[in-house]
Amino acid sequence: MPEGPEIRRAADRIAAAVVGQPLRVVEFAFPGLKHYESALLGRRIESITPRGKALLTRFDCGLTLYSHNQLYGVWRVASAGERPATTRSLRVALETARKAILLYSASDVSIWRSEEIEQHPFLQRIGPDVLDATLQPEAVAARLALPRFRGRGLAALLLDQGFLAGMGNYLRSEVLFEAGIAPDRRPRDLDDAERARLAEALLAVPRRSYLTRGVRKARGLRADYLTDTAEGFRFRVFDRAGEPCPACGEMVTRTEAAGRRLYACDRCQR
Ligand SMILES: [Zn+2]
Repeated sequence: MPEGPEIRRAADRIAAAVVGQPLRVVEFAFPGLKHYESALLGRRIESITPRGKALLTRFDCGLTLYSHNQLYGVWRVASAGERPATTRSLRVALETARKAILLYSASDVSIWRSEEIEQHPFLQRIGPDVLDATLQPEAVAARLALPRFRGRGLAALLLDQGFLAGMGNYLRSEVLFEAGIAPDRRPRDLDDAERARLAEALLAVPRRSYLTRGVRKARGLRADYLTDTAEGFRFRVFDRAGEPCPACGEMVTRTEAAGRRLYACDRCQR
């Protein structure tokens, strides 16, 4: 399951193919969206932004395409006029003179007036995105103190997209390690310094992962979202059970928490 940084890099790739260029082909397979095809012809895509696992494609005419890939949907980039051979069904095609972006197999697709997109039920449910550059540690610390979050175990809370969107399983282990906090603690048990440290790490770790282009390839993570890279983001504890903790040399342990594997250093994380 790709996490926030991988989703955002995938969005960057499809955005780079089409943003700013007039659309020459606009196709929707959904009957309810057909009437938007002519309205979008000749318009430009301004931005493509992930929100959790949804993608918002914003056009320069005040409309925004909402798409959620769920389990099967996938975006592809192709040359203009090209349609890759696939058994998947094409649901959305947005094509400029140079490139096309093609959405296959997704069923959760809709078009909104841009100023109303936040009313989408999915966007109403998810928390602020850890990769939103305007999100500040103080706001995350305040969120940790909210009644609906403060009594929950951190191991489960850090996977809950309703708390913070864009978090995921490898980020959970790395964030808790960076903050020096044990996964079985609850926000209400943290003192102010710990809460501030956790809030910092909840933003710093995903942003570092996004900026350093790719993570060490790990078992169970989809290879097409990852790049092996010498200088890229390195897991310090995730997927490193039995290896020495980079901070203290104690052995990194693996447990299960909220149904997913979790890695920690019991000496560094209190
Ligand atoms: Zn340690």
